[in-house]
Amino acid sequence: MKVDMEKMVSLCKRRGFIFQSSEIYGGLSSCWDYGPLGVELKRNVKEAWWRDMVRERDDMVGLDASILMHPKTWVASGHVAGFADPMVDCKQCRQRWRADDTKNGKCPDCGGELTEPRMFNLMFKTFFGPVEEETATVYLRPETAQGIFLNFANVMDTARKKLPFGIAQIGKAFRNEITPGNFTFRTREFEMMEIEFFVKPGTDEEWLNYWLEERFNWYINLGIKKDNLRLRQHAKDELAHYARACYDIEYLFPMGWSELEGVAHRGDFDLAQHAQYSGRDLSYYDPDSGERFLPYVIEPSAGVDRSALAFLIDAYDEEPDKDEIRVLLRLHPDLAPVKVAVLPLSRNEALIPMAKDVYADLRKCFMTQYDDAQSIGRRYRRQDEIGTPLAVTIDFQSLEDKQVTIRDRDSMKQIRVPVAELTRTLEAKLAGEPLDVLPPGGSYWLGFED
Ligand code: ATP
Repeated sequence: MKVDMEKMVSLCKRRGFIFQSSEIYGGLSSCWDYGPLGVELKRNVKEAWWRDMVRERDDMVGLDASILMHPKTWVASGHVAGFADPMVDCKQCRQRWRADDTKNGKCPDCGGELTEPRMFNLMFKTFFGPVEEETATVYLRPETAQGIFLNFANVMDTARKKLPFGIAQIGKAFRNEITPGNFTFRTREFEMMEIEFFVKPGTDEEWLNYWLEERFNWYINLGIKKDNLRLRQHAKDELAHYARACYDIEYLFPMGWSELEGVAHRGDFDLAQHAQYSGRDLSYYDPDSGERFLPYVIEPSAGVDRSALAFLIDAYDEEPDKDEIRVLLRLHPDLAPVKVAVLPLSRNEALIPMAKDVYADLRKCFMTQYDDAQSIGRRYRRQDEIGTPLAVTIDFQSLEDKQVTIRDRDSMKQIRVPVAELTRTLEAKLAGEPLDVLPPGGSYWLGFED
């Protein structure tokens, strides 16, 4: 099921995933705020990345560098001179475009004549300290990578890692994009998940291939359909100034194939530049060979917001549901903002104490939502639409037999399980155990869908 961007924007707003920034003042274009569900989704994307890329690996450590950095950083990295896009203006309607987005020298909007391309630096400048003078100009980082390179020696000295190893970081980055748009796909403020993986020269090709595969599969393991992902190698004339090779992992967004993550071979460009500009030795001493050299770097660089958007789009589905349509997000349980919904069959007073007890127990273990408003069918549909994988229902029989039902979002099938087995059963289902594997004392259940 392909969803168009308008539908996605509207679902995100209606259900509290993503709101326009500063909406009450008319909005600030291309800036977005994550609401109660969006913030959970985004945290889950970052948590899954950190778990898979840092915590479960021996060869990776984390970092959280500051957004504001010494201005020389961006001279050495090439961003002051080179981090620019060619920009053109329409002489008729005055709109500004990235030259790459225009064809035949005509304005894509009104067909008017365009100016010659001029280079436009994408870095945001701001003032550091109370005096607005040139010496106090700093930049908001346009990528998190440079914070990693500047800390390479600190990490080497303290983390006792041998090559190959990586430093991973999640954080905000800012780019004064000429044409932001497509919802959260291209914004001026966004979050990145970046790895700089340092390797011995000569092993770099192997590691580039390794990371391409690793990162490609990461999206698939979290539920992205394989047909909607592809790898694209950059042509020589497309390569950034620092890159020896670069691949994009592309996703089939509603506007077409677009970059989800870049995996670049940066060689020793950054460490060499920072060594030169800072006068510090950033080489690595290899205890095995007794050699000293600058490591090469493979960089998988992903956007948190873009990934979250791709996960939402890929999870969107609609199914016929009697006379209506069931809208659901088939989100991977690791990413779903709410893992379990607790739903008393009705608002009958007799059911509430048990339902509240179950809720109090479950919320210690899972992001849980309690809902008793409207019919049970309506409540299941509400949870389907926000991607909640499992719902627990407490009915009148539960009061007697101390059993509750678990309903699965995707198949709508239900099982009945003893309350004493509930937490363990939910944990197993969220980790991928099929619904029809029953815990001790459990049974199949026809269920209440209406
Ligand atoms: P593009 O060609 O789309 O401008 P890029 O090649 O400049 O992207 P990189 O520098 O490789 O992007 O950034 C790494 C990742 O950061 C991208 O794959 C994307 O997921 C994310 N990203 C980059 N720019 C933005 C942006 N303006 N808004 C949201 N995410 C972004």
